[in-house]
Amino acid sequence: MVSSAEARQALGATRAYEVTVDIATCDGCGICIFYCKPVVFEQSRALSRRGFYPAVAVRSEECNSCGLCELACPQLAICVRPIGAETRS
Ligand code: SF4
Ligand code: SF4
Repeated sequence: MVSSAEARQALGATRAYEVTVDIATCDGCGICIFYCKPVVFEQSRALSRRGFYPAVAVRSEECNSCGLCELACPQLAICVRPIGAETRS
């Protein structure tokens, strides 16, 4: 199986994205985990201060910037932003 990062490389685009979750805001609903096809998120095993198991972006390098997680998150807890300049081979 080809990873999202590998597919982007094959297309010549190598832009990377940083995905962050505001753990203080996240209520651990799991919607982002469900929608993210490249499996960027995992549920933390540690409780947040508000008593939830928050989502954590553990594979930002696989993000393709589809934007689904940011749109779907009811807490607006996710930020996806490009890192550096886009390069094409
Ligand atoms: S923007 Fe898309 S690929 Fe990136 S973390 Fe969100 S759902 Fe996953
Ligand atoms: S969709 Fe938002 S609130 Fe739900 S687990 Fe993901 S980051 Fe947390």
